Amino acid sequence: MIFKSINPFTQAVIAEHEVLTNAQLNQKLELAATAFKSWRTTTFQERADKMQKVADILRANKDELGLLISNEMGKILSEGIAEVEKSAGNCDFYAENAEKMLKDEHYNTPFKSMSVYDPSGAVFAIMPWNYPFWQVLRYAAPAIMAGNVTLLKHAPNVIGCAKAIENAFLEAGFPEGVFQQINIDIPQVETVIAADIVSGITLTGSEMAGSSVAALAGKHIKKSVLELGGSDAFIVLNDADLEKAATVATQSRMLNAGQACICAKRFIVTEKVADEFASLFAQKVSALQQGNPLQNGINMGPLARIDLAEKLSYQLEHSLQQGAKILVGGEREHCNFQPTLIDFVDANNIAFQEETFGPLATIIRAKDENDAIMIANNHRYGLASAIWTVDREKAYHLARRIDAGNVFVNSLVRSDSRIPFGGIKKSGYGRELSEIGIKEFMNMKSVIIE
Ligand code: NAP
Repeated sequence: MIFKSINPFTQAVIAEHEVLTNAQLNQKLELAATAFKSWRTTTFQERADKMQKVADILRANKDELGLLISNEMGKILSEGIAEVEKSAGNCDFYAENAEKMLKDEHYNTPFKSMSVYDPSGAVFAIMPWNYPFWQVLRYAAPAIMAGNVTLLKHAPNVIGCAKAIENAFLEAGFPEGVFQQINIDIPQVETVIAADIVSGITLTGSEMAGSSVAALAGKHIKKSVLELGGSDAFIVLNDADLEKAATVATQSRMLNAGQACICAKRFIVTEKVADEFASLFAQKVSALQQGNPLQNGINMGPLARIDLAEKLSYQLEHSLQQGAKILVGGEREHCNFQPTLIDFVDANNIAFQEETFGPLATIIRAKDENDAIMIANNHRYGLASAIWTVDREKAYHLARRIDAGNVFVNSLVRSDSRIPFGGIKKSGYGRELSEIGIKEFMNMKSVIIE
């Protein structure tokens, strides 16, 4: 079996990658087990020196790697380069902080008692194509700094990125087997989950993939972390700075051609300011240029795969049939989807109920702020959300009422190495990044000394 990498803008097949046979996969699992035996005994300083080198290699090659990302999944070049830089920053962050984060914790008992954080084995990662470097370095840098090893099953359309990341680890001096990318098909996933060396599974992807992998993890009694879909609310209240809110709304929905789990997807606006916000938002969406991701002045490339573009067209069409009104865009040619804005969406509309993974923004009108919160929470997903109001005190109290893993006030929702990231409800469980993220796959061992 072969994975084909197809450039979504040109439709050219840019690479083909063979899937591992079961025998080859077993060799990779054995290599991971051998590597773990020695990697777990290395000092934080040894790990940090190498991780810093990975960061240096990524930065030194950011233009070439950004181009690889653009060619494989269609992101505009500047966003691909920025993604590589952000990924390098995460390597720096864990190289500098892992030791402090994993220090022993002592308890107040009459005898000596503490928790120590021991590495647990191999973290098996199943990753999507939308941020092919960031999603990987986000989990891999902390896992490896903690003394674990890792196996990566990347999405089939970004295997070139997976190989480039593996090469960066090898070039930085990490022993073979510490970071391995594996080309496997879905039926082989259980073999990896079941392997003794695998101590945990982290999956970023759709709800369906998460549910299936979590079931297998449960069957084999392995811990899992799931970062799944979202339909993030972007709440605009009467007293918001509408100009700024509309600028960030456009950025938040249209970044990466709308293909991010934390893209704002439901713009919930109080009635009093809805017309003005809709008009500002429409002006900004109309100004965006969709096209060749390598061309200067283009704000958005194609969607990553034809099936994703077709699904979005289907959602748009049904949404309009259900009463939504188009303000901007709506056309599609192959993977090229125009930046689109629709208004008068309600909770029964497909564009409200389903995750829309592309450049389609929806405006939902709310009576007042209580109604806005109710509409935001009336959803199966709970990843992130944003509130726009000049009243920061009120914003704090409203943030506490929102059912989501992250709430940003007057700001673009984004992930940050220093801050825990993750969702609730069908958006998944567990947290990545920060000190919480590095501890997800550790053996927190209690040691008591009398
Ligand atoms: P997807 O189909 O779930 O694919 C993601 C990864 O999961 C791929 O490597 C895929 O491999 C694998 N996968 C799919 N079904 C599987 C199964 N039954 N068992 C094991 N692995 C399986 O997701 P997508 O449609 O490509 O990506 C978009 C989705 O990911 C959206 O829902 C988005 O919100 C979510 N996402 C979430 C986050 C977050 O941090 N919360 C970040 C990015 C994306 P194959 O391609 O080989 O099937």
